[in-house]
Amino acid sequence: MGKSLVIAIDGPAAAGKGTIAARLAEHFHLPYLDTGLLYRAIGRIMADRGFDLDDAEFAAQIAMALDPEDLNDPRLRGHEAGELASRVAVHPPVRAALVEMQRTFAARDPGAVLDGRDIGTVICPDAKVKIFVTASPEVRARRRTDELNAKGREVAYETILGEIRERDARDSGRTTAPLKPAADAVILDTSALDREGAFEAAVGIVQAGLA
Ligand code: C5P
Repeated sequence: MGKSLVIAIDGPAAAGKGTIAARLAEHFHLPYLDTGLLYRAIGRIMADRGFDLDDAEFAAQIAMALDPEDLNDPRLRGHEAGELASRVAVHPPVRAALVEMQRTFAARDPGAVLDGRDIGTVICPDAKVKIFVTASPEVRARRRTDELNAKGREVAYETILGEIRERDARDSGRTTAPLKPAADAVILDTSALDREGAFEAAVGIVQAGLA
């Protein structure tokens, strides 16, 4: 990897890692890959075609045939796609099908920012900087609820909290590449931070990692 700067950002749903990763990429002039989009696209395609989300082999075929164009579907940003993603992300052949593409992206010169669940542990174990962005389930549910309400979608906080707990359990409990901080990751808890504070803390972690 030489002098290239790979920044691995992992963490649970709705902790703010996507925003932090995108801003770090801009700040350090690096390309950014939101790896959650890959799993979201697979889940979405399976659901659209009426396929069984528990069919690992079939989902892996979709993963192998994934086209960059598939990542542009605006529906992928939504909450439902996140749920579909976490259903297909439990299948080892699906994860295996996506490894090489993610590593190729990370191997670019001068480096890259990737965010997901297993970047620091599986995809880029040699990343120079690893940040595990987290926040309490209650804070994440509150942020997600406010975000959806601001978009005009009426959702109850309790419903979202339940979904977040369920997603955490599925992502952390799976046997392949479960959600967990790498041993050498810096934990960034954003529970008491606003967006700006979280970003500044992340920049500080990267600079400390480079020093
Ligand atoms: O990060 P995002 O919310 O877009 O991820 C959606 C789902 O995709 C996660 O809940 C997780 O199950 C899965 N995922 C994963 N590994 C990644 C990125 C996402 O398993 N590197």
